[in-house]
Amino acid sequence: MPACPQPTTDDLAALRALLEAARADRRHSLAVAGPSPQDDPVGVAALAAEARDLAEIEAALARMDAGTYGRCTCCSAAIPLPRLEARPQARGCAGCPRAERVGG
Ligand SMILES: [Zn+2]
Repeated sequence: MPACPQPTTDDLAALRALLEAARADRRHSLAVAGPSPQDDPVGVAALAAEARDLAEIEAALARMDAGTYGRCTCCSAAIPLPRLEARPQARGCAGCPRAERVGG
């Protein structure tokens, strides 16, 4: 059985670029939206999702700086590259869905 492909230095650089672009996007969205509109539940939910994404993206970038990026935050298993490419801010391996939940 072939091992899951692991990110190379080039892959990590590409993933970092994706994360940084996504972070800039989220920051822009949040800056443009301004304070949450109290009378717009859909807008509030969308902004909350953007803020959550931003937090996950920043956490992923912090893990890159710490050298722990690409490891499941739950069981420390290596996260397969295709999973990271689909979702660069992924925190957990496929076996640990709970690792993907913010705050627990
Ligand atoms: Zn795991």
